[in-house]
Amino acid sequence: RVKGVIFMSIDIKKIEEAVKNILEAIGEDPNREGLKDTPKRVAKFYEEAFSGLSVDPQKNLDVEFSENHEEMVIVKDIPIYSMCEHHLLPFFGYAHIAYIPRGKVTGLSKLARVAEDFARRPQLQERLTSQIADTIKNTLNPHGVLVVIEAEHMCMTIRGIKKPGSRTVTSAVRGIFRKNAATRAEAFSLIMSKK
Ligand code: ZN
Repeated sequence: RVKGVIFMSIDIKKIEEAVKNILEAIGEDPNREGLKDTPKRVAKFYEEAFSGLSVDPQKNLDVEFSENHEEMVIVKDIPIYSMCEHHLLPFFGYAHIAYIPRGKVTGLSKLARVAEDFARRPQLQERLTSQIADTIKNTLNPHGVLVVIEAEHMCMTIRGIKKPGSRTVTSAVRGIFRKNAATRAEAFSLIMSKK
């Protein structure tokens, strides 16, 4: 594993040209006042939305602490904003992460950072869920990891079957959460309980 490597950089000019082409292709005038800065704005947004491609999310977990706490740790309601790779439309919602440390813990905000970094890529919710779980599993070697993401997909809301408000729930279950039904049930009930 290579630390802190920039895998690629985003070509802002190329995005600007592409957006200008799209505006022309739909029959718009990219030079009219309301649109003339649109390619720049979209490129800026894409730079942010896809910034996770140039970082190694695993590096967030570089700082670990030795700790005897081997009970469940849950970080709930981590806001997630991602882009569906099939339509380049946003999907957004919440990620919940549960893990049971094995002698090593990490900062709670670091778990959220892993989720945010992976979200800032062209994504599938299923893959995002697994990537978060596997990164925590491979880095901290905990007894178990459970990740749940609930999200609304704009591609389901504004096109085709149009199901506003419908949420997709995915989970990735590793280690003891997979083997032990009672532990898994405890994590799910803590995650789904309202404040
Ligand atoms: Zn989609």
